[in-house]
Amino acid sequence: MRVIPTAEEATLGDHRHFPGARLLIACSLCGWSKSYRVERVIERLRQLKTGGYATGLTQVARRVAWPCPGCGRVHWRASFAWPPGIDEREVKRLANRYRN
Ligand SMILES: [Zn+2]
Repeated sequence: MRVIPTAEEATLGDHRHFPGARLLIACSLCGWSKSYRVERVIERLRQLKTGGYATGLTQVARRVAWPCPGCGRVHWRASFAWPPGIDEREVKRLANRYRN
């Protein structure tokens, strides 16, 4: 996955600027990572009434309570990332589709 650099204060709702991107939860200590569909994460937070589109990526990372399967520590980072196979052309194609 290719991590998309975003501002410190980026929120889950910002994912609409990056069509096709997923939410990547990565361990800052050993690099183990898992990705999620952003819409599903937002939906889940709304169901629990603990967040939604305005929830910051740093807050999301802080909420992950399970220990890393790689190193057993709890030190997560959350970011948007392109899955393999999404290249520049695919991004443009998806962006157009969302606009129409
Ligand atoms: Zn780890």
